Amino acid sequence: PQPNPQVGAAVKAADRAHVFHSWSAQELIDPLAVAGAEGSYFWDYDGNRYLDFSSGLVFTNIGYQHPKVVAAIQEQAATMTTFAPAFAVEARSEAARLIAERTPGDLDKIFFTNGGADAVEHALRMARLHTGRPKVLSAYRSYHGGTQQAVNVTGDPRRWASDTGTAGVVRFWAPFLYRSRFYAETEAQECERALEHLESTIAFEGPSTIAAIILETVPGTAGIMLPPEGYLSGVRALCDKYGIVFVLDEVMAGFGRTGTWFAADLYGVTPDLMTFAKGVNSGYVPLGGVAISGAIAETFAKRPYPGGLTYSGHPLACAAAVATLNVMAEEGIVEHAAKLGAEVIEPGLRELAERHPSVGEVRGTGMFWALDLVRDRATREPLVPYNAAGEANAPMAAFAAAAKKQGLWPFVNMNRTHVVPPLNITEAEAKEGLAALDAALSVADEHVA
Ligand code: PLP
Repeated sequence: PQPNPQVGAAVKAADRAHVFHSWSAQELIDPLAVAGAEGSYFWDYDGNRYLDFSSGLVFTNIGYQHPKVVAAIQEQAATMTTFAPAFAVEARSEAARLIAERTPGDLDKIFFTNGGADAVEHALRMARLHTGRPKVLSAYRSYHGGTQQAVNVTGDPRRWASDTGTAGVVRFWAPFLYRSRFYAETEAQECERALEHLESTIAFEGPSTIAAIILETVPGTAGIMLPPEGYLSGVRALCDKYGIVFVLDEVMAGFGRTGTWFAADLYGVTPDLMTFAKGVNSGYVPLGGVAISGAIAETFAKRPYPGGLTYSGHPLACAAAVATLNVMAEEGIVEHAAKLGAEVIEPGLRELAERHPSVGEVRGTGMFWALDLVRDRATREPLVPYNAAGEANAPMAAFAAAAKKQGLWPFVNMNRTHVVPPLNITEAEAKEGLAALDAALSVADEHVA
């Protein structure tokens, strides 16, 4: 593509004048004007091209502009761009069927939303109505979305400013051996102690007051911490013991990210409700939803479900989901994610960790990896403090700038960079990205104590 700085300047000027951006101090940001994108790359108006190791916000699981999905959206637009939610519509029916076919266990009914946060809102509402109980337990080091209830169950600093109306939300620590809250030295200890902590939280909160426990199957933005073997099945058992609805949030981890259709498949666990969004249609058109178990669906078989939205199951979004899921199956994209993750990404990251003292831990699976960057490997002191901003965050800002200079767009959160490229990235692209990370980590190394 030809560079076109004048157009880029106009795009940027209108953005700065009129677009109010998420999670930002509006005058302290400098959004890049993007001219186009294809596959694993995007480019700006000045002729700079970036390999997208962030998949947008971890949603372009099949990369940008997949021709079959673009064609399906065009075809749906030509035949039925939109329709109200109360009708049976082909694209919606087929999307629900394909999703239900892939979700574990008896999660066979699909309630569609516009994205992840509203999926979480509805899942928690369903759990409260199903149990008749008021409280929800959620984990620190989690993210569940930006709407009021979703942000309140979130366990990261983004919720602090919205900590009003938090009635009924109780947080607990989920397992994370590298930064254990339980003084554990092994995954088995971490698992056992985290389950004991959760069960005593349930006991002290009152089991009969708890509607739901919500967890990201593999926490995403909070750091890609794979739960130890036995943790999720242990939570499942506690939910069964106390009549609590188990909600797994697969908005980020679902649809192939972990090298399996859902992260829950890694653990053989079936929740009662599962939220999804992002990868369901690679984010080409906004779509999310809740997959609902037979027992919870039964609660609303004769009694109306008191919730809905104008665009529930929007035909354009659902047609994109149908095409995405078919493309993922036809092209073996989930299997590719597992294989390339295990054979190229993981060994590549472990090799970088050997040479770069700023890398404290490499963790993940499939196309879902985190590098936990530290000032000191022995103490595990993070490269920047928790929730650092401004000068305190300079080492991570320098790392990100160095990556971009190398043509790599990184995902950065606090003291971590996440390697979360499109699932269909090629081996050559993956290696190109690892080489760019190598250079950027040398900048992070300068801040090691
Ligand atoms: N849940 C998880 C695990 C997420 O990662 C996100 C977004 O990053 C959300 C929920 C919220 O989704 P959305 O931004 O589509 O509302």
